[in-house]
Amino acid sequence: MDIRYLKGIGEKRAQMLAKLNIHTAEDLLSFYPRDYVDYSAPYPVAQAPHEVKCVVRATVYEVGAPTRVRSGKKLTRVAAGDDTGSLALSYFNNPYISSKLNSGETYLFFGKVGGNFLHREMVNPVVLTQKQAQQTPLVAVYPQTEGVNSAFLSKCVQNALEHLEMDEPLPHSLLTKYRLCEKQEAIVKIHFPKQRADIQAARRRLIYEELLTLQLGLLMMRSRGKTLTSARMKPVALTPLWDSLPFAPTRAQQRAAAEIMEDLQKPQPMNRLLQGDVGSGKTLVAAAAIYCAVQNGYQAALMAPTEILAVQHAGSLERMLAPFGICVVLLTGSMKQSAKKLALKAIAEHRAGLVVGTHAVLSEKVQFANLGLVITDEQHRFGVRQRTLLAGKAKHPHTLVMSATPIPRTLGLLMFGDLDISILDELPPGRIPIKTYAVTGKKRADLFGFLSRQLDAGRQAYIVCPLIEESESELLAAQTYCKEIARPLLPGRRVGLMHGRLKAAEKAAVMEQFQKGELDVLVSTTVIEVGVDVPNANCIVIENAERYGLSALHQLRGRVGRGGGEAYCILVSDHVSESVKKRLSFLCHTTDGFEIAKFDLETRGPGDFFGSRQHGLPSLRIADLMADSRILYAAQQDALAICADDPTLSKTVHKGLAHLVEQLFSGETVLN
Ligand code: ADP
Ligand code: MG
Repeated sequence: MDIRYLKGIGEKRAQMLAKLNIHTAEDLLSFYPRDYVDYSAPYPVAQAPHEVKCVVRATVYEVGAPTRVRSGKKLTRVAAGDDTGSLALSYFNNPYISSKLNSGETYLFFGKVGGNFLHREMVNPVVLTQKQAQQTPLVAVYPQTEGVNSAFLSKCVQNALEHLEMDEPLPHSLLTKYRLCEKQEAIVKIHFPKQRADIQAARRRLIYEELLTLQLGLLMMRSRGKTLTSARMKPVALTPLWDSLPFAPTRAQQRAAAEIMEDLQKPQPMNRLLQGDVGSGKTLVAAAAIYCAVQNGYQAALMAPTEILAVQHAGSLERMLAPFGICVVLLTGSMKQSAKKLALKAIAEHRAGLVVGTHAVLSEKVQFANLGLVITDEQHRFGVRQRTLLAGKAKHPHTLVMSATPIPRTLGLLMFGDLDISILDELPPGRIPIKTYAVTGKKRADLFGFLSRQLDAGRQAYIVCPLIEESESELLAAQTYCKEIARPLLPGRRVGLMHGRLKAAEKAAVMEQFQKGELDVLVSTTVIEVGVDVPNANCIVIENAERYGLSALHQLRGRVGRGGGEAYCILVSDHVSESVKKRLSFLCHTTDGFEIAKFDLETRGPGDFFGSRQHGLPSLRIADLMADSRILYAAQQDALAICADDPTLSKTVHKGLAHLVEQLFSGETVLN
């Protein structure tokens, strides 16, 4: 049911809800609270913690008449308290408050208590009568967007619940097996719990349901690859490739290449994840796999997340593979039509051994003569969708996914089912650790002085700013930054600007200038992302560093230090909170990507780290892959059993599950 038909939701509110991805009554009911306010155990006035949101019980003594204050707002002062102390309440622009509060009655107030122990105060606290608090002791707090507050969402959910009977999607056998509550009950309890135990029961049920759905979807996508590959290969000696390099492959690179080689000889298609920290040399391992495929008479395709990376990969792989007569063809969206035609022809006629392109282009228009190997360079995210699309262009080619996100091995196995994992746990020798410093904006003049000296020495620098949106005014927008800070502070230098609003061709042009050394400094938003390789760049400055996870900062830092000599990463942040300081300082002293990811997990929580943007799995509403890994394991076992019995989920008892899978993976091609 469309959300607009619910009571109290008009066109305007529907638009606001759309921002939260809520379009139907069903969406609304599965928009779960992020927390609850507990009115069942309020603080006496004197015991309320200072400047922390909490619930305080107090009796109202007197409600003042509204007065107009200097800012033009109307202020209503309320004197309240209990036998432990007094509490001054201020309500701004709230004309209804005086009719809501009666002198002599006791209420529950939710908000922060400020002031000092002589004068405690609360500003605009939420108020509940004692009776209301008894009826709804736990009040849901929802993730918010502008114009939609939790009280409003609660009301909408209440309305939706009156209109919608939820069908039970889980087979009854699973409900009994884990003693899970029914869907309808779980939905009521998650939004309107009467006690803590309700929340737990509801969460357990909903988390299980979501993880089972995830596992089923992944299994179904994969079961299509269970058949035999048409590209079974013979072993190939890699010595000629290794010997042609200006350096020796690391042991980790050799091991990963050998693992891949094993896979390529099997009758089933390879499904392998290659994990390695930034700079660990994943490209060379990819080259070895491509080398093997082409020697066996197959074509290989490599998909990159951006055009810039595609161009770069094509270049470096060509250098490695051309000596063996392997023709590398580039295919991107911004190429001229005529060049694209030539490339497509070379691919169709099997003159191209390797095709490098962006996800978008490679998954659409290309006809391969004999595709045997698909490699995806996801940098730090997985795209389930594109991978399956391209894999559909051949009869079950081998697939290799490269990623720089360190996922603990056990978790990776649970997340990606039968995906095999190779890890590059060793950096090429001779890498000098990148000197990393955290500074505040006050030091910016010094910082630019330092940059100047590096530029004098002929090096180049990146400066990363978070956004180009002016509306987020506290952030230094890249454009403004360029104009008002970077250019004035670096007089006479060539400062380029790169941001997400540029067209692909414009981005490529800026990047090329930087690569050729025609720019000294590249100011960019994180769209340049990870993966670009400009060896002469040895400094990276990251503004508003507190905005990123440590893993992301580590990735960005990996942009420098590739060309020998000292390299520097300077994290700029004006946030003085202890936790930010601690995190940035950790990064200054650690170079190991796995350690950094672990710290990130511990300090920011898995929600951030495993946000769907990073791993490319559908975004989960309630489950947490790290925290709920035990349920994930159970769900995986159950999913395997269900798929073994009914691989397409077409039995009546699995109809609900099939619907859930379709919903969770909407936009992905799962069920076909
Ligand atoms: P990433 O794993 O981040 O994709 P790359 O494949 O881009 O890393 O490699 C980073 C740099 O290290 C490249 O310049 C590459 O030529 C170099 N490199 C790769 N393997 C080795 C090695 N065994 N010895 C020395 N340098 C290497
Ligand atoms: Mg790379």
